[in-house]
Amino acid sequence: QGNDPLLAVRDVSVVFGGIVALNGVSFDMRQGQILGLIGPNGAGKTTLFNCLSRLYQPSSGDILMEGKSILTRPPHRIAEIGIGRTFQNVALFPNLSVIDNVRVGAHARTSSDIVSDSLRLAWVRRGEADMNKKVHAILAYLDLEEVAHTVVSGLPFGTQKRVELARALAADPKILLLDEPAGGLNHEEVHVLGDLIRKIRDDRKITVLLVEHHMGLVMSIADHVVALNFGRKLAEGTPAQIQADPDVIKAYLGSK
Ligand code: ATP
Repeated sequence: QGNDPLLAVRDVSVVFGGIVALNGVSFDMRQGQILGLIGPNGAGKTTLFNCLSRLYQPSSGDILMEGKSILTRPPHRIAEIGIGRTFQNVALFPNLSVIDNVRVGAHARTSSDIVSDSLRLAWVRRGEADMNKKVHAILAYLDLEEVAHTVVSGLPFGTQKRVELARALAADPKILLLDEPAGGLNHEEVHVLGDLIRKIRDDRKITVLLVEHHMGLVMSIADHVVALNFGRKLAEGTPAQIQADPDVIKAYLGSK
């Protein structure tokens, strides 16, 4: 597909009652890119994230994945086309072990196209061994083997965030949507997280959309940054371009 974008956001607007949360936003995501989405409070980042993960339906515009609109897909079926996500506040099954949470992720990619129970059972049996191998490989990859059988709720917050990444990766996403992954992490943990996100992109060629308040993290790992303000795209470019952009500087200084 050469130069075609993996994901294209086309003139997306979202109106809640009278409030225009997003106003004609367009941008492309290229395969293998880490794209940072920034903006002051209320700029529309979460709204856009929720459109990409299909929790919100845009009032107008379109979102295309590999040239096809994703807007007809229900949220529980976006994993099948390769869109994975994490949540701002960790949303794991707190009473399940780490490995069981990752297993749930591994099953997310398949499922609902298989209509008959007997076919599904055959599929599950055939896939079980592969699935186990994959789950263990991901646990090893994210350094979670030691806690594989620990119940998630007993783990430190930073580790739970890593389990969330593991669960999302288990579904083999082409695009990983990360909702403020640095929230609640200390300086050292943010650094480790940044290295990990870059490693995931480098090793697995996964495209990453990073919605983040932590400017240091965005500017150090993103290839491309889109800045929103009052629901509109204010600027886009490399981290260096964005940091030097007078409109971006004004938006941030004005909001603090
Ligand atoms: P923050 O950095 O504070 O999370 P944000 O950039 O994610 O902000 P959004 O949460 O997307 O911004 O909000 C954009 C605008 O849309 C705000 O004016 C907000 O009040 C409004 N908004 C968001 N969600 C809803 C909703 N469900 N109903 C009504 N208004 C909403």
